[in-house]
Amino acid sequence: MRPEEGFIRWLYPLFILMCANWAWRLLHQANLARIERETIAATTVFFTAKLVYYLFWGSLEQNWVEIESTYWVMAFVMVLVYIVFDARMGLVYSLVLAVATLALGLLRLGGEVALGQYQAEFLAFVRNQMRLLAMAGLLYALAIVKDQLAHAHQQVEQMHTLARTDPLTGLPNRLALSELLEEASHRIHGLYVVLLDIDRFKQINDRFGHAVGDDVLKEVGRRLRTSLRKSDVLGRWGGEEFMMIMRGDNQHEVLAAVERLREDISFWPFEKVGAVSASFGVAEGHIGDSIHTLVERADKVLYQAKSLGRNRVEISPA
Ligand code: GH3
Ligand code: MG
Ligand code: MG
Repeated sequence: MRPEEGFIRWLYPLFILMCANWAWRLLHQANLARIERETIAATTVFFTAKLVYYLFWGSLEQNWVEIESTYWVMAFVMVLVYIVFDARMGLVYSLVLAVATLALGLLRLGGEVALGQYQAEFLAFVRNQMRLLAMAGLLYALAIVKDQLAHAHQQVEQMHTLARTDPLTGLPNRLALSELLEEASHRIHGLYVVLLDIDRFKQINDRFGHAVGDDVLKEVGRRLRTSLRKSDVLGRWGGEEFMMIMRGDNQHEVLAAVERLREDISFWPFEKVGAVSASFGVAEGHIGDSIHTLVERADKVLYQAKSLGRNRVEISPA
């Protein structure tokens, strides 16, 4: 039996079994990062076993093609480690691999070379080893750049989110709302802009202090979010004003939902403060409307709701 046949007989079926296992687990939503780690570990173990097999069994001249090809797989796995993990992990893995292959090669070839045998193979082995080390160094440098870019990208993303989040309520702020409105304006028909302003909020601040006022704002934001549908956008427009962006085919349904919200708020108990109420201005988008006029209309009817006695919903005429 030729040596590679023995290897194929035992290790490749095992490898196929492991691949089947990974495929099955992937289909069942297993943790991808864990499968990546296992793939790298298993490939390393299999191909180190292959290297040992061809180095120590059979004739080296005959096996040399297989040994060389194993080095290519090792280099490929190194690339994989740098992609999956960070630069430090890649460097550790590369060095362990280089030292392990060096030790195996020297163990097999050291004595023979001293006896004047396998000179050509020894040179090829040294060349492979050098390539592997050079590759580890190059990959390390590239991985550092990759990690830095990833870090910078993460920071930009964080800043982007921070700039669009209201720090008090954690809701989208005016900038985020303006951008969302701009996006939604491509389908203005059936779009509803609802402005909500807490009634006599200044009195809450005056009577209980600014910190209690802040708690009311936080609580209103939190409760509104849980009362709304997932598809409704809720954000803090400014001060004690919130904005909701909703979609609906039927104006009565939207108005009924907003009316329910108004009623809910008036029944919500607030620590220290007791009850609060809010006034609402609703504007429905029609073809030809701009976002600017839609918000303006919502604001205008909100003002009307205030002058008509507060704790009520007003809708702007089309
Ligand atoms: P109205 O019913 O007409 O809306 O009366 P109001 O008192 O709610 O309205 P006004 O606009 O006069 O007052 C809003 C107050 O909201 C004034 C401001 O000090 C307060 N406010 C704005 N932002 C915050 C905030 O972040 N925290 C607190 N605690 N108060 C705020
Ligand atoms: Mg107010
Ligand atoms: Mg206000």
